[in-house]
Amino acid sequence: MTLDAIVIGAGPNGLAAAITLARAGRSVRVYEAAPTVGGSTRSAELTEPGFVHDVCAAIHALALSSPFLRSLPLAEHGLELIQPPAAFAHPLDDGTAVVVRQSIAETCEGLGARDARRYRALTEPFVEQSDDLMDALLGPLGFRHPLLMARFGRYAIQSAAGLARRMFIEERTRAMFAGLAAHSLVPLEFLATSGYALGLLIAAHAVGWPVARGGSQALSNAMASYLRSLGGEIVTDHAVATLAELPPSRTVLCDITPRQFIRLAGDKLRSGFRKRLSRYRYGPGVFKMDWALNAPVPWRAKECAQAGTLHLGGTIGEIAAGEHASWFGQVHEKPYVLVVQPSLFDATRAPVGKHTLWAYCHVPHGSAVDMRERIEAQIERFAPGFRECIVARSALFPSDLELRNANIIGGDIAGGAADLAQVFARPVSVFRPYSTSIKGVYLCSSSTPPGVGVHGMCGYHAARAALSGSLGG
Ligand SMILES: Cc1cc2nc3c(=O)[nH]c(=O)nc-3n(C[C@H](O)[C@H](O)[C@H](O)COP(=O)(O)OP(=O)(O)OC[C@H]3O[C@@H](n4cnc5c(N)ncnc54)[C@H](O)[C@@H]3O)c2cc1C
Repeated sequence: MTLDAIVIGAGPNGLAAAITLARAGRSVRVYEAAPTVGGSTRSAELTEPGFVHDVCAAIHALALSSPFLRSLPLAEHGLELIQPPAAFAHPLDDGTAVVVRQSIAETCEGLGARDARRYRALTEPFVEQSDDLMDALLGPLGFRHPLLMARFGRYAIQSAAGLARRMFIEERTRAMFAGLAAHSLVPLEFLATSGYALGLLIAAHAVGWPVARGGSQALSNAMASYLRSLGGEIVTDHAVATLAELPPSRTVLCDITPRQFIRLAGDKLRSGFRKRLSRYRYGPGVFKMDWALNAPVPWRAKECAQAGTLHLGGTIGEIAAGEHASWFGQVHEKPYVLVVQPSLFDATRAPVGKHTLWAYCHVPHGSAVDMRERIEAQIERFAPGFRECIVARSALFPSDLELRNANIIGGDIAGGAADLAQVFARPVSVFRPYSTSIKGVYLCSSSTPPGVGVHGMCGYHAARAALSGSLGG
């Protein structure tokens, strides 16, 4: 029997594409190379038995912001999102921390009076319209909510380094903004890096930055379970080597990045399209670490214990220098480190009284430099005594991450560089981002708009394109 659709890859976007098609009554089968579903949204006992670590994605602000994921009955399929009391904290060398909570008023209490006023004026209008804003931000480039987007764009287009210095007076508020923008892996002096900082900040106030009870795998498992309930099939442990080997289907959606797609498609690709696709750029990589701990991290700023996420890097100058270095192929001695401490809020992650900790720093694309010492030194800087809590550690170099998931090319977690030139025209065209030169074959990974994150919107939009294209009529 000819299937309506085959999806290659069971990451959040592959699963989202399959669910969208199955909901429209189409027959769909997903092939996944790994033994489990989830792609970069998986959990595993990376250190010791009984310690569950998120191998990649850990924080689900984008899942909660996603119009598509919010429309799915994932709670009925086992997903529970847990909100830490604070979304994130940014500790500083003086022993204090900037703490961002869901309430704007409570967040403002921790900022100086002048910055509090500016912070409120910047965030509040967008938080009030956050549903419309996320609808526009998580779609392909279009004309949804034009007035709101024009207002947002005025700030978003600016470099994070520039906006932080113009908007805020206190160094600590500027540092907090820099830590947010650095999620993008793009140098903070580049245009449009403010867009990333603002999007994440608005999400912190609008929906929070939750973790998934039991680990991020629970989110992927819930998507897979819902897909099966709609009649969709998932075949794991099955890496697809070429499009030619696939059973007959009316359409194929590929949750893979351009470099892999060029290999899979072989000579079926038109040469012009192949040329444009081969010019697609990948960004810096990450060096990932996880720890099993015998106690919570002893943060010097006690309020850090209330935050799910920590941004370590001190001042705006230091964070900007680190991000500049990794983009331009250098390793920084004091890298910006992203930390998540899920077991403080989810007791299922570790044996009683024990804890897990998750972190990564940005490194040059494909870097083989061991960052263990540098990452632990950054944590120790803000939490003296941290090293004494360590029971076991896991370290994943960019090449290890790519081995676990072929989409993480050179350690690039974003499916391709996300600077202004490539964030909208992803992978090759603003106008038909999901189509390829092969009729009925679509791309649906984070290499398409709206890009990186566990939101499933790339898969959803690609499936909509297939439904009105090759599956239409
Ligand atoms: C270390 C790290 C931390 C992150 N942290 C966060 C976070 O906290 N919050 C957040 O929102 N996002 C985070 N992200 C980003 C987020 O995980 C990704 O943007 C998201 O998972 C992309 O989904 P995807 O479906 O496009 O691709 P992926 O999740 O990469 O899934 C692709 C799937 O395709 C499979 N595949 C590839 N090739 C083949 C083939 N030939 N045949 C069959 N199967 C194949 C892979 O095995 C994989 O399962 C993080 C990513 C990383 C790597």
